[in-house]
Amino acid sequence: MRNRDRAKKLIKAFFLGAWALAACQPAPLSFTPTVQPAPATPSPVIPTISAPTATLPAPTATAAPSPEPSLEICSPLDGIEISDLPQIISNPFDAPPLGQDDGHHGVDLAFYRFGDRVSMEGLQIHAVLPGKVVGVIANRPPYGYAVVIETAPETIASLLPNLAQAAPALGAVQPHPALNCPEPQQQTYDPARESLYLLYAHMAQPPLVAPGDEIVCGQTLGEVGTTGMSVNLHLHLEARLGPSGYRFASMAHYENAASQDEMANYCLWRVTNTFRMFDPMLLFALQTADAP
Ligand SMILES: [Zn+2]
Repeated sequence: MRNRDRAKKLIKAFFLGAWALAACQPAPLSFTPTVQPAPATPSPVIPTISAPTATLPAPTATAAPSPEPSLEICSPLDGIEISDLPQIISNPFDAPPLGQDDGHHGVDLAFYRFGDRVSMEGLQIHAVLPGKVVGVIANRPPYGYAVVIETAPETIASLLPNLAQAAPALGAVQPHPALNCPEPQQQTYDPARESLYLLYAHMAQPPLVAPGDEIVCGQTLGEVGTTGMSVNLHLHLEARLGPSGYRFASMAHYENAASQDEMANYCLWRVTNTFRMFDPMLLFALQTADAP
């Protein structure tokens, strides 16, 4: 038994070590959004608030409507700048084949030490975008304590063309037959409008927000944790485009106690392509590209 325990400890130490290396090394090369946000010619749909340049026509009495204000995007972790996020990617986004539940549907952000911070313990999770809470998950597998926030299409109008390019509408797909996916309950939502949904997972405790709450950019949602199917403190962040107005009462899978509803929601969110995933880092890349 002793030897077995020791072996287990060694294996654990090895993996922790490997993970620590991955987490602590600056990894600028790992920052590769699957779709480049900015084509060679800057997209005209990204509003810019930089000062007018010489090439712009001088304002006239009948000036065109002023450009819409730049959308604010906030870092999901308290005290960590958006520009520093690529350095703390411990597991990048990895899109699975359509209809399957493998790959990595989001990005993991983790560190052992960052500046003055010696741990992620107690670190506050902030809302990346304004929106509305449409799902609070009460420590269910695999997401643990988690929250889903919908951002309306009007709010993200400037980003939508780039996001739609990263997550093209290919229509709904049948989940892989190996996955148990009950039919989702009928819901009233608007398939003609498309919102951005962000899921923040593995929180330490129940989220500090409730379904229906209006959220502002940077609002504290909870604390970094390791609940659900997680082996170390990290924030797992997922981003998807999907029909506006959807509500996720709960979501769970891979547990006998998961209800039909929870599994249906899980499948709808993850494998039917009704909600199309993209690398959340794209949001931050667009924000950086948009910076004056
Ligand atoms: Zn993850």
